[in-house]
Amino acid sequence: MAKSKFEYVKQFETEDKLLPNCWIVVRIDGKGFHRFAETHNYIKPNDERALDLMSKSAETVMEEFKDIVISYGQSDEYSFVFRKATNAYNRRASKLATNVVSLFASSFVFNWPRYFGTTMMQYPPAFDSRTVLYPSDKNLRDYLSWRQADCHINNLYNTCFWKLIQEKNLTPAQSQERLKGTMSSDKNELLFKEFEINYNNLPALHRKGTILVRTPKTSMENGDLDLSLQLQHTGSARGQRSRSTLSNKRSSRPNIERLHVDIIGEQFWSDYPDILNP
Ligand code: ATP
Ligand code: ATP
Ligand code: MG
Ligand code: MG
Ligand code: MG
Ligand code: MG
Repeated sequence: MAKSKFEYVKQFETEDKLLPNCWIVVRIDGKGFHRFAETHNYIKPNDERALDLMSKSAETVMEEFKDIVISYGQSDEYSFVFRKATNAYNRRASKLATNVVSLFASSFVFNWPRYFGTTMMQYPPAFDSRTVLYPSDKNLRDYLSWRQADCHINNLYNTCFWKLIQEKNLTPAQSQERLKGTMSSDKNELLFKEFEINYNNLPALHRKGTILVRTPKTSMENGDLDLSLQLQHTGSARGQRSRSTLSNKRSSRPNIERLHVDIIGEQFWSDYPDILNP
């Protein structure tokens, strides 16, 4: 097609191709979800319908973008890690960020009724998105550790904050005041002494967030069923993995599984060596 005299404006677009040989992380985060959660009566501190809907939306993204090797989500955010050698959208930062976030947002709205039933969505939610490069495996692991540590710190605080409101009838301001300047150990002690709660026994979904990984397609063939049944009792990441492989198989869902395990230590990475070597 002949070029029009207007075509020159294309030159104003700037190149945003990402460096080769680096992990690409796209992180999305809900815009103003403090208010969105309030408006939609999220259960405090952890609304599991909302967490499940976030993970469902992240799975939609992983089904579309096959180069995502692992995703991590908590609260109103999700991080998607593209393999170092990906050529998706020719590694263009804005293309990656916008395609991921818009698919995530539309999936969040599309699937809302499945998780929230008759609770109507009051207004269309928005999510922001950014693309970050991590040159080394250590940088990538530290990034994921940072997000999981954030999940833990917020969950410990929020659990205390809402217990004081819901069970000791403190106002939000009083609860905030009560927690001001406390260390982690103080909060653990508060939960134990005042509410007989051992923090470590709270649901792993709340404490660890959600890790999405891909299941090898062959994992349910032949003798693997026996293995997975054995592993169900171990409580390890592999045990969880096999359990959800089983349910994926039964419901013929795609090969993406949800884990709520520690990703800061070595165990997870030795259980899933393929993630860093895809
Ligand atoms: P910003 O637009 O800057 O991201 P924000 O209000 O979304 O502002 P965040 O730091 O992203 O602030 O925090 C998200 C907030 O959404 C949480 O503090 C919490 O109030 C709420 N929230 C998100 N998910 C849940 C959930 N599953 N259960 C309860 N509350 C939630
Ligand atoms: P890409 O992901 O690269 O944008 P694309 O298939 O969206 O691929 P575009 O160049 O954006 O390609 O073109 C959009 C296409 O969508 C049009 O070529 C047309 O086929 C279709 N389309 C969009 N809007 C309409 C419309 N209102 N009526 C009919 N067809 C439409
Ligand atoms: Mg924020
Ligand atoms: Mg937010
Ligand atoms: Mg957030
Ligand atoms: Mg198009």
